[in-house]
Amino acid sequence: MDAPLILRARVVLPVSESPIEDGAVVVWDGQVSAVGRWSDLAEGVGSANTVDLGAAILMPGLVNAHCHLDYTDMAGFLPPTSFPDWVKGMLACKAGWSYTEFAQSWLNGANMLERSGTTTVANIEAVPELLPELWTTTPLRVCSFLELTCVKSRRQASALLSEAAERIFALKPERGFMGLSPHALYSTTPEFLELAGELSRRENWLVTTHVSESSEEFEMVLKAGGAMFEWLKKQRNMSDCGSRTPVQQLNRCGLLNDRFIAVHANYLQTEDIRALAESGSSVVHCPRSHSYFGYDPFPYAELSKAGVNVCLGTDSLASVNRVHGNKPVLSMFAEMGVFAARNPSVSTETIVRMATRNGARALGLSGQVGEISIGSFADLIAIPFNGPVSKAWDAVVATWRDVSAAMIGGQWVIAPII
Ligand SMILES: [Zn+2]
Repeated sequence: MDAPLILRARVVLPVSESPIEDGAVVVWDGQVSAVGRWSDLAEGVGSANTVDLGAAILMPGLVNAHCHLDYTDMAGFLPPTSFPDWVKGMLACKAGWSYTEFAQSWLNGANMLERSGTTTVANIEAVPELLPELWTTTPLRVCSFLELTCVKSRRQASALLSEAAERIFALKPERGFMGLSPHALYSTTPEFLELAGELSRRENWLVTTHVSESSEEFEMVLKAGGAMFEWLKKQRNMSDCGSRTPVQQLNRCGLLNDRFIAVHANYLQTEDIRALAESGSSVVHCPRSHSYFGYDPFPYAELSKAGVNVCLGTDSLASVNRVHGNKPVLSMFAEMGVFAARNPSVSTETIVRMATRNGARALGLSGQVGEISIGSFADLIAIPFNGPVSKAWDAVVATWRDVSAAMIGGQWVIAPII
């Protein structure tokens, strides 16, 4: 077991408690063994190695609760358009790509996240054949959710799910876990979702699904009409459409519970918000993807008032706008910045929690990641900061550069320049 390491910084932002001026974190055996004021901790650890990060905020690594790493290199491929046309464009792009392109794209995305402070990511794996090799290329904690689609019969649904289960049993991520991602209501069937829910409950797997992302999806499921309905009616049995909202439909299929993560949830009725809250489901909001499609305002106030755990994700770069003509990069700081601009009444403290602790809670990792507390993983990042401690939350949300240091499980992945 290595000797303890003590990290000192102008501000330590544990997230689980108030910011600490001239703070310190003691790291031992990959975990946090103490957090507090430098003056209180320095003596107790005696001969520990000390790294003084100086004018910096030291905080937990960010938790990206929804990502598609394998689409990273599709940044800029598709211009902003209607959601159904974007899905059609994506299907065409994906059909033209090789395993090598998906693998390189996944790796490029993981590198971007690492540089921009994410240490845990919930990733949707559309090309699971690339696992487990890709996990070995990144120090990130990757929680891999197998993407599943099914627009055919119950028999095919059970066969697909048995195949997914076998794959999950055979894959053992070193630093994350596996879960299921039935892609969306429109790309699956109620029977498939019911069976996926049963399997996940039996195996205690987390489930994440895109839901009520666009007005076209909402109109298709609730009203059996609109552009998405017209497009899909030739490919799929639409008898599940026309009587309830997307969230109510998921609830009816038995998917909503405290191990379910609803992705997007942009179009909601009051009873949908109540169902999400009562079931303990989490919601992931992806601010830049939301802006790209120009959706109606995300119902943050209503969801948080109802007690729903709302966290943040990057989604894929295939649905993020260019910035000043440049290709975008995956960055939770960028997501926090766009959310802050769109939701000026939400405090920066709340926004940082959405990008850390709330994501950890959604992933069943409370107390392990997304905060600096005794026993949590030493997943830490540093950002340059020279201001007063009272401005630390604001500074995190205003960050646009790469982190100056990052550690995962007590190992530097971006070493500080001292
Ligand atoms: Zn997505």
